[in-house]
Amino acid sequence: MKETTWIIDSRSGALTVEGLRQTELMSLTADILPAGTSINCARPINIEPLGHSSPQPANGEPSLRVFRIYHNSVIEGPGRRSVLQTAGCLLRCIGCHSVETHPMDSGAEMSVAEIVERLLAPEGEPRDGVTILGGEPFLQPRGLLALMQSLKRRDQHITMYTGHTLEDLLSRDDRIIRRILDLTDILIDGPFVKELSDDANEWRGSTNQRIIHRPALWGKNQSPDVLPNAFQPDGI
Ligand code: SF4
Repeated sequence: MKETTWIIDSRSGALTVEGLRQTELMSLTADILPAGTSINCARPINIEPLGHSSPQPANGEPSLRVFRIYHNSVIEGPGRRSVLQTAGCLLRCIGCHSVETHPMDSGAEMSVAEIVERLLAPEGEPRDGVTILGGEPFLQPRGLLALMQSLKRRDQHITMYTGHTLEDLLSRDDRIIRRILDLTDILIDGPFVKELSDDANEWRGSTNQRIIHRPALWGKNQSPDVLPNAFQPDGI
């Protein structure tokens, strides 16, 4: 018996089912539910990518190339998430659900301040945290770190997706990447593998990907001296 997750959004009434193909769901529920729409991580329904008319960052302002920002995701981390989808990916996983994010010039360049405002707008959507996915977020480490520092100042829980493994990221011995990992609450790591996608269930695209909670991000041979536990504003 497959493990499935059924989520009813108490705000909108929408039902999301994870762990079943659309045909499997229909064979179970065709007599009580209307035909649904297939969604996946990094592939929201009817949310347009940012265009080139989006506000441009001033010279020297920390920024990121952003493909899309959306709210009310219940499939990309715990609870209800506001999501930043970064532009650009070089990994080319076979069967990737978001090939439109691959070009490095997709989406729009946005200042970190503008991104934070759009993610956390006071009149915006309720959320349990922010999810950052791609594309590949670690292609833009300086802007990513500046964004995470800004989000942590606002007490946001951060879930991060990457096509790289944690071991790969740690092996780079890169101070910026280590700071990013230190500010990440949940890392979902590894490339998408189509052959392993059937039983991935919630949050993951394929079963090779791991859901790694923050203490484990320090790594076996790391200590808080190397990856400081305390939040350090702006110190790149
Ligand atoms: S890392 Fe993500 S965006 Fe990049 S190719 Fe793989 S699945 Fe697609």
